[in-house]
Amino acid sequence: MKYSLKIAHLYGDLMNTYGDIGNIYALQYYGKFMDTEIIPQLISLNDTFNADDFDLVLFGGGQDFEQKVVSKDLLKKSSQITKFIENNGVFLGVCGGFQLIGKYYVTAEGEKVMGSGSLDHYTLNQNENRFIGNTIIEDPITHNKYHGFENHQGMTFLGKKGTSLGKVLEGYGNNGKDKTEGVHYKNTYGTYFHGPILTRNPKLAQELLIQALKNHYPNIDFNNFEKLSFPPTF
Ligand code: GLN
Repeated sequence: MKYSLKIAHLYGDLMNTYGDIGNIYALQYYGKFMDTEIIPQLISLNDTFNADDFDLVLFGGGQDFEQKVVSKDLLKKSSQITKFIENNGVFLGVCGGFQLIGKYYVTAEGEKVMGSGSLDHYTLNQNENRFIGNTIIEDPITHNKYHGFENHQGMTFLGKKGTSLGKVLEGYGNNGKDKTEGVHYKNTYGTYFHGPILTRNPKLAQELLIQALKNHYPNIDFNNFEKLSFPPTF
């Protein structure tokens, strides 16, 4: 293939309870229609994460126990994660991963788990309740609708960095109160959608791939990829 992009699967061995690795398979599938190979690398506990080595990052969801383990290691990676995000790297954080790129996450048992602090949202716990079910949101700018499935106890409140990924049309979203779902800041996307989100929302996968290609190959015009009608079929 003509182009290649490297994706870091952050803590993919611990934070994949809900099959969020499917997002990498989706990028590999859609990448074929853009002559683009997606090369994944697992970055887990004690591995070094260098922002400059990757075009994309996936940080999936997980359970409270794994989030506590990850949080300790995350301290060592947080400055590079922030650098990656600020340098317009394409980052997808799902559920637990979304929570952990914010300031902190409070577990179901009330324990405060620190995030990387790359963005300024924070996540509180609920009293013996979870938000579970199908969800639909609408991007306020593009009016694209995204479909997903949420399963979380945490209630996330956005800070000043970025806007929500969409307005909740169905389901609970970030906190069940303010109708926001996820976050969008530069080329970073956080969301509660499992599904996995990119298999069900090919337009978003297309957007992520084009952004990553433009970053890596700045002198090439990828406009023809924007015109592709997704989902493509062989
Ligand atoms: N443990 C977190 C919560 O319950 C994240 C769950 C998830 O990643 N689905 O809110």
